[in-house]
Amino acid sequence: MNSQQHSIDEFSPACGMQPGGAAKDSSRRKFLQMTVGGTAAGLAVAAGIELTAPPRALSQSTFTPDAALRELMEGNKRFVAERLTACQQDLAGLKQHTIEKQEPFAGVLSCADSRVPVELVFDQSIGQIFVNRIAGNIATSEIIASLEYGAGVLGTKVIVVMGHGGCGAVKATIQAHEVPGQISALYPHIQPAVDQAGPNLEAATKANAKIHAALLRQSSTVIAALVKQNKLKVVAAYYDIGTGAVSVLE
Ligand SMILES: [Zn+2]
Repeated sequence: MNSQQHSIDEFSPACGMQPGGAAKDSSRRKFLQMTVGGTAAGLAVAAGIELTAPPRALSQSTFTPDAALRELMEGNKRFVAERLTACQQDLAGLKQHTIEKQEPFAGVLSCADSRVPVELVFDQSIGQIFVNRIAGNIATSEIIASLEYGAGVLGTKVIVVMGHGGCGAVKATIQAHEVPGQISALYPHIQPAVDQAGPNLEAATKANAKIHAALLRQSSTVIAALVKQNKLKVVAAYYDIGTGAVSVLE
């Protein structure tokens, strides 16, 4: 059995049972029985269910900025290890707890690239992260407005600006070829990173994430004030699309 089959066998039943709604509890018991009868890895997943099943959507107030970042990075470790817990959380409970309000503990600015599925990468579920995606993970004024809303109104404790391997937007900016439509409108936002780091794609992508994290810290009065009060942390990160690992760059 290869690792992909392993992953599908292990997690699909848990994700697949959620839309069933009414039969959730008995489905979970069945899943637990099924899993307990299975592998040692299955047992770990079963333990994960018991630990993470209560809705976590409203636990934001207990997080410091460092704890919020740690929560994301621990989720990424589970993603890398193919030990996801997010899809075994009580989705119906999370939906119910977030009808009236949301309290995501983290904001993420990532690329629109289909290989960067943010909730999966950090093993999070409904109401937990405030995700903003745009090609090249650039802090345009609209994106800054959105992240300000996340931090200033919703109370996110950390903002992660995350570049990734093989980023087409950064690559296109390096190449500076003619492109159709308004695609080149992305370039001026990414060019400073290329100017700083040169034509190496990974170096330019990491520089781009750092530049836009700094931009958020400096150009947003809302974010700058929260950072100054130690209520918010803004970090740059890099997602390796091959390994699934996120590394914090600063
Ligand atoms: Zn990209």
